[in-house]
Amino acid sequence: MGRMTLKSFLEARITLQDWLFLFETAIRSSILSTETKEPSLLYMLSYIAAAGNQTTPGSINRLVGATGSAQDSRINGGTQLLATALAEKLGAQNIYLDSPVGKVKLNGGRYTVMSNRLQVSAKHVVVAMSPPLAGQISYDPLLPAGRDQLTQRMLMGSIGKGDRNLSQALVPEARAERTAAE
Ligand SMILES: Cc1cc2nc3c(=O)[nH]c(=O)nc-3n(C[C@H](O)[C@H](O)[C@H](O)COP(=O)(O)OP(=O)(O)OC[C@H]3O[C@@H](n4cnc5c(N)ncnc54)[C@H](O)[C@@H]3O)c2cc1C
Repeated sequence: MGRMTLKSFLEARITLQDWLFLFETAIRSSILSTETKEPSLLYMLSYIAAAGNQTTPGSINRLVGATGSAQDSRINGGTQLLATALAEKLGAQNIYLDSPVGKVKLNGGRYTVMSNRLQVSAKHVVVAMSPPLAGQISYDPLLPAGRDQLTQRMLMGSIGKGDRNLSQALVPEARAERTAAE
């Protein structure tokens, strides 16, 4: 399963082209934001399983569904509020932008995290980046072999996504144009 791509699995089982198109569009636009030829079947299965919880097994419906599923709730005001509120709590003076970490070194039970602009000493470090980016940091001592292989082999998808923010004023106009055209 780790060697088979999601695409080859789907193509071997779904013969109706319309269904294939529908499934690929769902994966591309709302579930993984990637082409089905990129993830393995095993990754997709683990992703579906991760949509479960202690009482309900994971399913595709829970990934795309609304009530009780992934699209159940949104943050009033936008997801960015999470980062904004966290930044306020931490204090602007403790946040360094445009300062990519180049090296993490463990010495005497403490980590030194180094960028071009500063060095920070810490008891614990959380590297919260995608595996390929995390793999660009130099670690001393080296990462365990298994983790190093993960950062080398878990590539990111190659799709971008954009949202168009329609103002309130535009929406009724667009509806009116559509009605006129109909
Ligand atoms: C195309 C696309 C569409 C998506 N659509 C959705 C969606 O509709 N809904 C949804 O819920 N999720 C969506 N996701 C997933 C969502 O974006 C991620 O799950 C989320 O952004 C992960 O957050 P994160 O903080 O873990 O990592 P990231 O958002 O990747 O943040 C990592 C941060 O690390 C910084 N960084 C990189 N290198 C260094 C370095 N050397 N030193 C210091 N900092 C560094 C980066 O600049 C970045 O700010 C989508 C993802 C993609 C790619």
